[in-house]
Amino acid sequence: MRETAGGLKQIHSDRPDCFYCSKNEKLDSLMIEAAALQVSTLYVNRDQTHGGRCIVAYRRHATELFQLDRTELRLFMEDVSLAAEAIYGAFRPDKMNYGIYGDLVPHLHVHLVPKYKGTEEWGEAFVNAPPSRKTLDPDGYRKIVEIIRSQLKR
Ligand SMILES: [Zn+2]
Repeated sequence: MRETAGGLKQIHSDRPDCFYCSKNEKLDSLMIEAAALQVSTLYVNRDQTHGGRCIVAYRRHATELFQLDRTELRLFMEDVSLAAEAIYGAFRPDKMNYGIYGDLVPHLHVHLVPKYKGTEEWGEAFVNAPPSRKTLDPDGYRKIVEIIRSQLKR
């Protein structure tokens, strides 16, 4: 495990109304924690319509990239890149897509969405909330968490 950024602003949960901060049952219903990265947490999205889809969420409550100082921003982007590389290693998609939205959930997080040639969305933006979600049984999620963890280069 990489060392966390010592000396940076204290990372804490300061927004009880934010599910990324409070890590409540809403968060559990949407994703599964897979790994603690330098300044963020890697989650496997329970919707696996895009095989290997994950989220990297910044550890403290921020809403915009420009609210991070240069060190925080560098570490966060390193985490995003590391996670994307791990997903790529595990799933071998044709392309990784990266989405930062946050209109409705403003806590800074990046959607990491593997894209595959031959699918309807190839060449287009991924559908964030597909009409029919592909969910797995607990063993299916456990396998995804394990393979992504095994691919994380630390
Ligand atoms: Zn938050």
